[in-house]
Amino acid sequence: MQDCFSSKDRFIECYKERVASQFGHDFEDSYPVERYQALGSLIRDYAGHNWKETKKAVRRSQTKQLYYFSMEFLMGRLMTNNLRNLGIYDVVQEGLADLGIDINEMESLEADAGLGNGGLGRLAACFLDSLASLDLAGNGNCIRYRYGLFRQKIENREQVEVPDCWLRNGNIWEVWKPNHEVKVRFGGNMHAWMDHEGRFHSDYHPEFVVRAVPYDEPVIGYHTQTTNTLRLWDAEVDEDSVSAGRLNEYLRLVTQLTANVYPDDSTIEGKELRLKQEYFFVCAGVDQIIRSHLQTYPSLDNLHEKAAIQLNDTHPVLVIPELMRVLMDDYNYGWDQAWYIVTHTVAYTNHTVMAEALEKWPQDMVSRLFPRLYLIIEEIERRFKYELDHQGKGHLFPQVSILGQGQVHMAHLAIVGSHSVNGVAKIHTQILVNDVMASFASIYPDRFNNKTNGITHRRWLMYCNPQLTQLIDDTIGTDWHHNPGGLEALMPHVDDPALQDRFLAVKRERKVILADYIRSTLGIEVDPDSIFDCQSKRLHAYKRQLLNIFHVMYLYLAMKRDPGFRIRPRTFIFSAKAAASYVLAKEIIKLINSVAEKVNGDPEISRYMKVVFIPNYSVSIAEVLVPGADISEQISTAGKEASGTGNMKYMMNGALTLGTLDGANVEIVEQVGYDNAEIFGLRVEDIEALKRENSYNVWHIYEHNERLRMVIESLRNGTWDSDSNAFMHIYNDLMLRNDEFYVLADFEAYLYAQSLVANAYEDRRAWARIMLINIAKSGYFSSDRTIQEYAREIWGLTPIPFETTGRA
Ligand SMILES: *Cc1c(COP(=O)(O)O)cnc(C)c1O
Repeated sequence: MQDCFSSKDRFIECYKERVASQFGHDFEDSYPVERYQALGSLIRDYAGHNWKETKKAVRRSQTKQLYYFSMEFLMGRLMTNNLRNLGIYDVVQEGLADLGIDINEMESLEADAGLGNGGLGRLAACFLDSLASLDLAGNGNCIRYRYGLFRQKIENREQVEVPDCWLRNGNIWEVWKPNHEVKVRFGGNMHAWMDHEGRFHSDYHPEFVVRAVPYDEPVIGYHTQTTNTLRLWDAEVDEDSVSAGRLNEYLRLVTQLTANVYPDDSTIEGKELRLKQEYFFVCAGVDQIIRSHLQTYPSLDNLHEKAAIQLNDTHPVLVIPELMRVLMDDYNYGWDQAWYIVTHTVAYTNHTVMAEALEKWPQDMVSRLFPRLYLIIEEIERRFKYELDHQGKGHLFPQVSILGQGQVHMAHLAIVGSHSVNGVAKIHTQILVNDVMASFASIYPDRFNNKTNGITHRRWLMYCNPQLTQLIDDTIGTDWHHNPGGLEALMPHVDDPALQDRFLAVKRERKVILADYIRSTLGIEVDPDSIFDCQSKRLHAYKRQLLNIFHVMYLYLAMKRDPGFRIRPRTFIFSAKAAASYVLAKEIIKLINSVAEKVNGDPEISRYMKVVFIPNYSVSIAEVLVPGADISEQISTAGKEASGTGNMKYMMNGALTLGTLDGANVEIVEQVGYDNAEIFGLRVEDIEALKRENSYNVWHIYEHNERLRMVIESLRNGTWDSDSNAFMHIYNDLMLRNDEFYVLADFEAYLYAQSLVANAYEDRRAWARIMLINIAKSGYFSSDRTIQEYAREIWGLTPIPFETTGRA
């Protein structure tokens, strides 16, 4: 088995044998899906060797491990990634070819695992890849949702949500581990008392019990032995826990628990099911950590020295009271020692400063669902208040309390109960420390730190853009594969005209691939020699897709009005899902598609521009879109985008960032310089001043800006839709609610920035130089750098020392 990939012929032999034994017929009689599943199982078994060795090495060397708790993992497809990380891609590709199979066909049979909303879930996936590739012991912990985030279709110019059945062809990577099940308890009654030593005792009768059963996936490092685990928990019925006559009700509750990824993109909906999901994977994950620890160590006294828990946003924050509960109630620790262990184990990552996106739950819901945890939260609050009073900081309490106005403030619980709180880009951390969490920063000045996000350069450059990778390798060698900072070695070559020409040829090749994709899926013809101007991310008012489409609308209207005004040909590409309940966002999708229809259907104007909305934005679509981009639109309202990671993917593939000074855009310009990015618009300080002086007035801008007025009027005069009310939410939001995200305020600056970019594009070699500089400076944004910082400064992780060199 272990030599199945040692040569092409050996692979073919193993593969045919596997198909025959798995499906009971000859290879020649097998179906594509069977061939795909057999290939998957062969690869997974092969990875099983290093998987086992990794677990043994961690246990033997007593290496500290990380547990990354995240409600979301946006993994995408794994076939290419796993074959390449294992170093067996070529053998498999050639073997399949001999059998008359195109490896791309096998790759495309894999479902895109979309267990997440967007950036936060994709970050978790990139982190897993970097952890394994850096030989760090890092486990992912999440839910095995039966359906991913909805699949988006566009019908009648509008978003329609359909289920994402990602498990239809099975999941070739997972292994069911029924012997690692955990019982998770909800609701019910608790009788509690203290004994004569002041120890807490309780008698708990839960209302609802499910079994959490894990499915493990190997996380394969790049050219290394390390193979970590992503553990996804499924809910199964607990036969002993159904009360008489309530079978159907019980089955429904169990099924619901792991049915869906919550489309909770920064608007918090008071949905009990979501809170149950959070506790479900927290409880199961904590139990796993405890069991695994006690297999190696005699007690939990040193848990914080051997395990680190990172909370990806507040969704898993119940880890804090749950771990307290286990230590005190199940293992007899006193409060102080338990608190020491918990707070030295747990660290928290904040992902947003938008007030409406900070998680809060009704106190009565928390106390009803988790009676014991709620008591612990109250005690955390009581002791925290005592400590503040004691330090003479009692006046801060109203701003930092965990419980208040009938709510549990999850971010406050996370900060009080962990030893590290990090933001995800410099500017975001500054806003946390100086503004949103300023009181906490004054109480715990050493707790706050920054870890600027990153993306794995393997998936987002080496694997999704082999053409560019080849060119870079030809120019500077392959050291950067292991050490992405090494991309800087491109800098001495950026002025080389021969390299610039070769680079432009590569970029064009990728634009042709993207154009082919657009033609074959949408039937729209786009010109690879036009500027590809791309904005792909979740649809949200603060991300300002509206500003982008306003520019398009302006160009269209201006060209219609004035036959002498013509632009350099451009293709505007959008891709974005909106939360199903987010009315304004869905109307913006309708506007983009309406403008697209009008523009593309106009024989005169469509020679100069096309507008494309690619449905169902996902990791697989990003992998085709990003390498073909010329311009990366990162135009959020300053202060609102915590970091962004899409901006890094585009930069790494050479696109020029057209953006505001927000999130990691700030660090992107820091790397490339203002000559190699186009920065425009209000900055955080400008917006603060406008708010302080209460001086922002959309009607004033409207009166004085004719170009903007033309665009706004077109929303209501039938230009884009025969129904003049079709875009009423957009109009009202801007003009009657005074444009919360400063779209109108930045309109003129954005148009100007766009014209500068168009001019810069004309000088092809100068443009190539800009793109090469972006690539050369993108190594900083590899998640390998991010993970090294977390490992050193928060987790205290060191690489797994393997005894055998074994198979790498
Ligand atoms: C990277 C990525 C995101 C995050 O994009 P931002 O521009 O940072 O918001 C969202 N969705 C998918 C599928 C991604 O790959």
